[in-house]
Amino acid sequence: MKTTTTTKIWGLFLIVSLFSGLALLNAAENEKNILTPEIVAKAKELHGHTCPGLCIGFRVAEWVAREFETDKPENKLIAVSEIAMCGVDAFQIVLDCTAGKGNMITKNSYGKHAFNFYRSRDGKKVRLLWKMKETPEFQKKMQAINSDDPKARNIAMQEYIMSAPFDDLFVVMEPLEEMPDIKRTKKDIPCSSCGEGVETLLIKEKDGKKICVPCLLKQQSAQNNSSL
Ligand SMILES: [Zn+2]
Ligand SMILES: [Zn+2]
Repeated sequence: MKTTTTTKIWGLFLIVSLFSGLALLNAAENEKNILTPEIVAKAKELHGHTCPGLCIGFRVAEWVAREFETDKPENKLIAVSEIAMCGVDAFQIVLDCTAGKGNMITKNSYGKHAFNFYRSRDGKKVRLLWKMKETPEFQKKMQAINSDDPKARNIAMQEYIMSAPFDDLFVVMEPLEEMPDIKRTKKDIPCSSCGEGVETLLIKEKDGKKICVPCLLKQQSAQNNSSL
């Protein structure tokens, strides 16, 4: 009888430990440190300074790395920033999206603090829109800093961005544009107008002739001017 009770208690203990062990494992998995000191230092080095914009990039990159599981080598991303801003340098280091590889696209002419990410293998996508500084939460925070020293305000802003709940800072939504095609043939075709070589997949065609984008735009604006 005594043995049975002991066995039951031991069994219960094992079950409880197993579950708490699993819970701990899950917690560790969820809290995997993406912004390690090495990664942060690398991004700071690339960018040349620390600033609120770089912090925006860190928060976005950290969220995306978790959500898109970029620690797995098959999960390659294409990033499209709708503005050239400091945070793009954090994407390059944390998410391995770089201008040179063609998977870090910057559409500066859009002028929006919105960051799109697409996972190449399955098309999973997201657009993270920075909530404007004019939001009540941000204003309240800035008033609380109560300092005229721009340096102190800058540091306080960085601290706020790094610690605020993600939803206070960003709107999570669907991208407005499809995943860009970044495939390249690495073969050039000469433009019929300027003679310069153009990547095969990017050359245009006009009146049956191959033409580069700048020449095409020049011809179009000349036509528009002459028809005025
Ligand atoms: Zn900066
Ligand atoms: Zn041309």
